[in-house]
Amino acid sequence: MTEVRTPPVHTPMNQFPARGGELLVNGIPLSRIAARIGRTPFYVYDRSLLTSRVKQLRSALPAAIKLHYAMKANPMPALVCHMAGLVDGIDVASAGELMVALDAGANPQEVSFAGPGKTDAELRQAVAAGILINVESFREVPILAAAAQELGLPARVAVRVNPDFELKSSGMKMGGGPKQFGVDAEQVPELLAEIGRAGLAFEGFHLFAGSQNLKPESIVEAQQKSFALACKLAEHAPAPVKFLNLGGGFGIPYFPGEQPLDLTQIGTNLTDIVEQAKISLPQAEIVIELGRYFVGEAGLYVSKVIDKKVSRGQTYLVTDGGLHHHLSASGNFGQVIRKNYPAAIGNRMGAEGQENVSVVGPLCTPLDLLADRMSLSVAQPGDLVVIYQSGAYGASASPQGFLGHPEVIEVLV
Ligand SMILES: *Cc1c(COP(=O)(O)O)cnc(C)c1O
Repeated sequence: MTEVRTPPVHTPMNQFPARGGELLVNGIPLSRIAARIGRTPFYVYDRSLLTSRVKQLRSALPAAIKLHYAMKANPMPALVCHMAGLVDGIDVASAGELMVALDAGANPQEVSFAGPGKTDAELRQAVAAGILINVESFREVPILAAAAQELGLPARVAVRVNPDFELKSSGMKMGGGPKQFGVDAEQVPELLAEIGRAGLAFEGFHLFAGSQNLKPESIVEAQQKSFALACKLAEHAPAPVKFLNLGGGFGIPYFPGEQPLDLTQIGTNLTDIVEQAKISLPQAEIVIELGRYFVGEAGLYVSKVIDKKVSRGQTYLVTDGGLHHHLSASGNFGQVIRKNYPAAIGNRMGAEGQENVSVVGPLCTPLDLLADRMSLSVAQPGDLVVIYQSGAYGASASPQGFLGHPEVIEVLV
């Protein structure tokens, strides 16, 4: 008997409806958005999808859980502004991001700053802004103490812990083993003592184990272990824990065979943790911080077909967009094996004819591949190629200067 294996397919992208063959972004036909911008390529983000994603998460998680937006996923100022009105806080990773967050109206009390190489100037700016600084090195303690004294302000700090475990099945591991992030759990008691001696305003802990995880059971395990570790470390803290950031890591489906994350188990587990925290860390606000989960599915990258060529039997759609705008979709932002992001011809939705094509960009490198041998509606020059799941790690995570093509435009509709 021969086993019939169907190749894995992309999970259906139904967050953007279509009308008359056109994809709609917040109700507006794609070609009209293109006309209004006046040129391609562009990223378009849908406000209504951002809003509904936050609502959906709030209804799946206990009310006591605070939601922070990790703005490195998408730092577009208008989008950060929209997010600031929806979430409870913003996490920044540089003084540049801090500026955007404060401009967006984020309450400094609910902004936190993480990153392994904060400069003296950035630390001083953070103290002046009154935000919470996630201390990731012994080096930061005296710098913060000096800035606090000079400015006459408290230096609000949490300790970023490099845990003694990893987030299993995560796309990108950022905790456990040797890491440049945070301070190893075993060194944290000594760091807490120094924070106490330096007179910094200790507020809590930050644990971030990894990113892009689609397995609820591994997220649950990491959150349980993070909570247990925080409770243990709290015994060494110079002040009660007011703030416990359990990280995030919630993934979205990008590749064939991947399914959206089921939040049920995560919600149940966080309800448990909130209950336990009432006893063991009674003053603590529990935070999860998410980037791509909030914004990834709300964005499209749109480029125009410039040319259509056939090379030895393979059809190529050559577009005006490529890896210089969307490194992740080209497979060159942390992926081990290149796989296709979901894609479509945005002005020929539901068209009869399909054809197997590779979508490439204008750059003189074979890495500039947006879709490798995918079945798409038959397209012609002038048509709009859409890459889904492009709201996170797009424009700001791409080498825009590479090869001197125009910068990408970003719009929020
Ligand atoms: C990158 C990062 C995030 C966001 O990760 P996502 O996968 O986009 O949710 C959150 N916290 C920290 C500390 C990060 O470095």
